[in-house]
Amino acid sequence: MTAVAEVPTQRSFVLIKPDAVRRGLVGAVLSRFEAKGLSVVALSMRQVTEELADEHYAEHLDRPFYPPLRRFITSGPSVALVLEGDEAIEVVRSLNGATDGRKAAPGTIRGDLSLSNRENLVHGSDSPESAAREIALWFPELG
Ligand code: UDP
Repeated sequence: MTAVAEVPTQRSFVLIKPDAVRRGLVGAVLSRFEAKGLSVVALSMRQVTEELADEHYAEHLDRPFYPPLRRFITSGPSVALVLEGDEAIEVVRSLNGATDGRKAAPGTIRGDLSLSNRENLVHGSDSPESAAREIALWFPELG
């Protein structure tokens, strides 16, 4: 008999980035996650400081693209979210699409709505470890 694989319910940290807020796309982005069936566990509009940017993107601090990324991510308010559902981490990343909006598949958020490798509208945690770290950083009250 074949064992039925367990489908883990997960939480993912999602950031709707300043370009989406500026372009009036918060509702459009959020509605894609809700329409998929993910639940909003936490939601908060935040002005990201340089300190929070450095903590959130700790793995990218030494990358050449980090200084302009930090200017972008601190350039205006963002909307921070925790989403929950079956395999939420992978589901969010597949809804987001590839990092570069020009290469992201049509049907994804970035593929449909972004033409940039930096201003790509949305962040989603890339692993259970990242999700736990990011949720603790952005929403310590959920811990
Ligand atoms: N980024 C950038 N230039 C690059 C690669 C990435 O400005 O050459 C930005 C982009 O906003 C991306 C973020 O840095 O979403 C984090 O990069 P990562 O490789 O973790 O991509 P993601 O997981 O967001 O798809």
